[in-house]
Amino acid sequence: MSEKKRVFSGVQPSGRLHIGNYAGAIFNWVPLQDEYLCIFGIVDYHAMTVRFKPEEMERNIINAAIDYMAAGIDPEKSILMVQSTVPEHTELAWILNTVTPVGWLSRVPTFKEKKRDNPDYVHMGLFDYPVLMAADIILYKAAVVPVGDDQVPHLELTREIVRRFNGYFGETFPEPKAKLGVVKRILGLDGTNKMSKSLDNCIYLDETKDEIWKKLSTAVTDTNRKRRTDPGNPDICNIFTMHKAFSTKEDIDRCARECRSAGIGCIDCKKTLLGHMVAALEPLQQRQRKLRAKEDYVYQVLSDGKKRAQEIAQQTMAEVYERIGIKRFHN
Ligand code: SF4
Repeated sequence: MSEKKRVFSGVQPSGRLHIGNYAGAIFNWVPLQDEYLCIFGIVDYHAMTVRFKPEEMERNIINAAIDYMAAGIDPEKSILMVQSTVPEHTELAWILNTVTPVGWLSRVPTFKEKKRDNPDYVHMGLFDYPVLMAADIILYKAAVVPVGDDQVPHLELTREIVRRFNGYFGETFPEPKAKLGVVKRILGLDGTNKMSKSLDNCIYLDETKDEIWKKLSTAVTDTNRKRRTDPGNPDICNIFTMHKAFSTKEDIDRCARECRSAGIGCIDCKKTLLGHMVAALEPLQQRQRKLRAKEDYVYQVLSDGKKRAQEIAQQTMAEVYERIGIKRFHN
């Protein structure tokens, strides 16, 4: 097994991936693969914290695996796995539950939001998922976790759980560090909410140029810029955030400069973005098509990923059993 430091990151298999997933997560994962041993989890147990259709789950997992590989996750370098295939995730989560005060979880902002948005679907899994998330990370003793700015509180909770476990049972887990992505979070086309399938405000990774333009052309920009002659502020414009994810440095700088001086209109700015976005997505879409034509290979990658992930997970759990006094029963 590689001696490189480890990274864990996960994305839920909740349907087609969009450019927010790409720029906020996968785009930042790809360069980490040379420096670290990266474990990328398709976190199906987390996807079950909202209402889901069992008949769609397998397809969503395979599509997620295809999308990640098409976007640059290399199964030769990294481990691509499905969370539920390594039962040590939930086993460790249970043990972490026993050291995590209820008060810590009730403060998690996403729990409050989800409770507010779905008052009829509030359950223990929704409350407890940050503990499973902590288990996902520390099961692999990940040194680094690539996160978006909205996930920093979750990682801080993981670090608190680690300190509590180590304090009770002895130094076992390192405290994982956050690695913030280079691209700020891309919001939905409404420019206000998170990019989300349920809000119908996404550009998907497999969309055509015409489909993307239809969405981009009406996407919200700097709302203070009412007329073409008004100077804009790229720092508060979601289209400019997209530029940072897809465009060349030259075009990013030019658009920012000309936006501020009203030298460019929003439509022209969006057309420049469209060109870069399509150029980035086309090779990805070609790889998606190739992988879809050989799904047996994708299943094999996930099966190999399970074995490699479990090898690390079992080593960690052997240490945990020793710390909590049940080692002899697990020999
Ligand atoms: Fe946004 Fe570009 Fe319009 Fe400026 S010119 S407000 S960066 S879309």
